[in-house]
Amino acid sequence: MQKQRVFIDMDNTLCDYRGRFKERKKLEPETKYPQSQYGFFAGLEPLAGAIESYRLLEQHFEVYILTAPSYRNPLCYTEKRVWVEQHLGLSTTQNLIICQRKGLLIGDFLIDDHPYPEFRGEQLLFDSPQFPSWKAVTKYLKNQL
Ligand SMILES: [Mg+2]
Repeated sequence: MQKQRVFIDMDNTLCDYRGRFKERKKLEPETKYPQSQYGFFAGLEPLAGAIESYRLLEQHFEVYILTAPSYRNPLCYTEKRVWVEQHLGLSTTQNLIICQRKGLLIGDFLIDDHPYPEFRGEQLLFDSPQFPSWKAVTKYLKNQL
């Protein structure tokens, strides 16, 4: 049987964008866009349970990372690729999709902290009351098998 396809967002879903943004702002309050600085995206910490959950999900689903770029920052495209290799390995970089319009992709589930009404599958809104953690996400998805 064909595996169901899951897309996973990066910023504030796999990676702690918010935490690094706050930290950089504290250190350099005069920097208006810390996310446009060299090393910002490559240096994000994984969120709790994110890496383990990715590994678990790929055993049962066809999993892709689907991230919208910070399009004013050309470094971001490369750094996202670097992040995936650092935290999930070289092979997983083949499953990285960088796309501004996530609704163009066809899949069963999208795990994302941002709603994409155009996406035609089911969306699991990360960091919401229903999916406050990776534990809640994996529990829900295992029930969909
Ligand atoms: Mg996000």
